[in-house]
Formats: sequence, structure tokens, C-alpha cells
Amino acid sequence: MKPMSTVGAAVDRTPEAEIIESAARPLDIPRKNRVYVNRNLRLDKIEMVGFDMDYTLAIYDQARIEQLSIQATLDKLCVNKGYPDEIRRLTYDPALAIRGLVVDRPNGNIFKPDRYGFPGRARHGSAAIERDRVAELYQRERMSLSSPRYAWIDSLFALPEAVLYACLVDYFDRRSDTHPPRPDYAAMWDHIRECIDLAHRDGSIKETVQGRLSDFIETDPHLAETLHKLRSSGKRLFLLTNSAWDYTDPVMSHLLDGQLGAYPSWRNYFDIIVVAACKPEFFTEERPFVELDGEGLPLVRTSTGPFVRGRIYSGGNLKQFEARARASGDGVLFVGDHIYGDMLRSRKSSSWRTAMIVQELEHEITTTDRLRPGLVALDQLDNRLNQLDAELNERQSAMRTLQRLEAEEDEGPSGLELHAAQRAVKTDIDRLRVDLKRTHAEHRAIEKETDLAFNPHWGPIFREGYEISKFGEQVEAYACVYTSRVSNLRFYSPMQYFRGPRDRMPHERI
Ligand code: IMP
Ligand code: MG
Repeated sequence: MKPMSTVGAAVDRTPEAEIIESAARPLDIPRKNRVYVNRNLRLDKIEMVGFDMDYTLAIYDQARIEQLSIQATLDKLCVNKGYPDEIRRLTYDPALAIRGLVVDRPNGNIFKPDRYGFPGRARHGSAAIERDRVAELYQRERMSLSSPRYAWIDSLFALPEAVLYACLVDYFDRRSDTHPPRPDYAAMWDHIRECIDLAHRDGSIKETVQGRLSDFIETDPHLAETLHKLRSSGKRLFLLTNSAWDYTDPVMSHLLDGQLGAYPSWRNYFDIIVVAACKPEFFTEERPFVELDGEGLPLVRTSTGPFVRGRIYSGGNLKQFEARARASGDGVLFVGDHIYGDMLRSRKSSSWRTAMIVQELEHEITTTDRLRPGLVALDQLDNRLNQLDAELNERQSAMRTLQRLEAEEDEGPSGLELHAAQRAVKTDIDRLRVDLKRTHAEHRAIEKETDLAFNPHWGPIFREGYEISKFGEQVEAYACVYTSRVSNLRFYSPMQYFRGPRDRMPHERI
């Protein structure tokens, strides 16, 4: 492919040509910083780019926010729900949760579904459940993962909930006394959910983050230039966050104020600012927009007509947004991190294009690159297993034929010849079985080693065994493109044509 950097290298360069020239060649971009494409996306057709804030523009220190969320939730479990004070001292392993897990509320189990929704790995509390038991528990029934029995861990804010659930299931399973009475597994989940929800809403989490922004939120040195690059190509930018104004303003100031001379305030980067948007309902319901003053208080005037740059809007809905922003559906690219609230709902309710920020991609890609020899070996062992299976089938069917001939006796080769042939086939079968067993063991050992490097409990987030994980399938289905952080867009021209791989059925793959 002709590198983008050579396009339009004329003597008389327009600003547009300069922007295109500033793009890196796709293969020069480190893999962990690339934009990956599920569906073709032409940035030159995009007029407006919208951004979610938390975990999209604002990248949290996961260990710190997780510890804070867990402490705040444990506190509420003790104070509001009467859980024993002892739980405040529970130790936990943050690696116990990844995105894409499902909680089986009534049973105290957590599992990782594959693309078909079937559990691969599963744990009761923090203890692994054997594969056979998983099959017994889940594969006999037709599972509906949308039933209230199951809860999804679908955003990075939800990881502490799963970690806490695993810890509390362990804790109460270990306790033999019944005072205070032990909550059942489903109630335990509901209490955690209620308490963490409250911790988000009553300021227990946000006040601490606001007080120590640089401890909790990374400042990406390339974010400002990335937004500037998009603006310079004539695109309008907007912010659409569920966070309220009193949190959005300090977080965005921390990220962007004073980064570039031309933009003294973060507000200068955005043509439209919408806070407390209440996604996913923003995309499906008809809540009104309310205009806020600089203090975040609602203005009395009703908010109608085209959006005015510099003003702050709260709430709202998709239909009014498109009318007031004069935005055409597929001319909008929305960049978010939440598979349901930002990606799935916007894809299903609008014709907006979507870009998903998957922070974990950096770790997944660096790990894949580091383990490349092991992963290649796994592919080779897969082929070897297929070949051995086919040979074994062939030898077993030869043995059946010889046994049938022996039974029919008078026709065909003599008894002695038949016995010699059977012995030869039996030797082959034994050898193949030993080889299969050894190859399986080798495969299992390498797979275990590689999985451990991704996450010791759950393996990679995009795969479950031989299948793509449910999370991977959702990213594929609802994100037109995905990447690890917003500033990766700076490597590409704002006119970039992101081309997806040609979709192929298995029989079309050569
Ligand atoms: P966004 O990602 O910018 O749309 O903002 C997400 C907002 O949702 C943040 O303000 C979070 O604190 C908040 N949030 C995340 N999880 C919960 C919850 O369980 N209950 C209430 N708010 C939450
Ligand atoms: Mg978010």
C-alpha cells in the first residue's frame, strides 16, 4: 500500500496536505498504539468527533481507583448493611477480575464466557472450578446471559465489584458461625452493587480522586495535540460524559488546561459539552437538555435551538442532540470505553460510528509479542493434534475392517496374515495414542504458561480457549475501530481511511 505520508506531497502545500503528511505509515506505528479496524471507517467523512470522559480521555490508575472503590464499598457494607468489621481487613488480588466476566449471582460463581456465551474458566469465590464441573453446572441448560441471574462485568469501574464478590464468597464460605447471619450469594452481590453505586454517587470515591487528581488520573502528554489535530482538519469536537459538572470540570482541567498555548482552558477544545448524559438512556429516551451556569447550577431559561459553543449542557438525548448540533448520524464518530453504554447502545440506536478505547490492549499486545514463540508453537501443536487425530481415525477404521474380515474368516487373507496385519495396526494405534497424549500435555503446558502471562486467573481478555471471548465478540460487533488510548489517533491522518480486513467464511480462508 502506498504510505499515507507520501500522499499530496506537492510544492504548494495546503494545511490539509500538511495534516496528511504528519501521519505515520501504519507499519511504523508500534502495535500497542495502532488503531484496529472491524468495519471500514473513513475519517474524511467524519464531521464531529465525540468523546466520553472517564476511562476514555481520563485514564485512571487502575490499582489506585480499585483500592479506593473497594475501601469505600467495604465501609458501606459494614455501616449500612451490618457486615462484620473484620471484612475491612480482607486482602484481595486485583487480578481476580477482568472485563468480560459474568457473575452467577445465586451460586457465588464468576465465569468467563466464550463468544457463544458458554463458560470456559470459572471460579467459586476465588477458587477455580474444575472443567468437568463447569460443564456439569452450565452446559446442560440453555443459558440466557441476559437473565437477572447473571451480572456482567463490562466496564473498568466494575472490576472492584467482582474482586469484592470473590473475596466475600470466600470469607463467608470459611466462616462456620452464623452470627451475624450469612447473606446468601445473590444478596451478597446485590449489597456490593448497591454500596459501590452509592460510593460513586455520594462523593466517597470522587472527593478523594478530586483531592489527588495526579495520583489517580494519568495526564497523557499527547492528548492535547491529538485533539488539536482533529480540530485543525475542520472537525467539531464534543464531550459526552455521564459524570456531573462538578467532577468533569476538575478532571478535564487536569488533563488539558494549559497544555497548548492556543487552548488556555480545556473547554476551548470542545464545541459542545454535555455532562450527566445518563448513557445508555441518552441514546434511547427523550430527557431534555438543561443548561448549566459556570458553577454547574441549572439556568432557568429553557434550553432550545442550536448548541452554543462555550455553554454547558446537562442530560439530553440523541434525537435533540443531532438536531441541535446539526449533526448527520454517520458523520459522527463517538469514542468511548463502555461496551454497553457507549458502543452497543449508540450503534443500535443511532447511525453514529464508534471507536472503542480498550486500555487493556497495551498489556494484551505487549504480552502477545513477548510470547510470540510460545503462540507459534501452540498453532503448530494444534496442527499436529489434528493430524494425529486423523491418522488415529484412519488406523482405527483399518483395525475394524481387519476384525470384520477375521469374523468372516473363509474369505480374504488367511488367519496368519490377518493376525500379522492386526498386530501392525495395533502397534500404530498405540504409538499414535502415546503421541497424542504427549502432544496434548505439551499443548496444555504451553497454553497454561501463556495464559498466566495475560492474567493468572482468567487468561487473555479477547480469547477463551479456542474461541474469541464474549467480550472480544462484543468489541468486534459494536466498535467500528478500537485502540488502547485516544492519543493513538495522532499517528494517523484526520483523513485516514481505516480499512478492515476482508471478512471471510471459514471455507474462504486459504
Ligand atoms: P463516563 O465514562 O465519562 O460516561 O462517566 C462514567 C461515570 O459513571 C463516572 O462519573 C463514574 O463515577 C460513574 N459510575 C461508574 N460506575 C457507577 C455506578 O455503579 N454507579 C454510579 N455511577 C457510576
Ligand atoms: Mg467511560
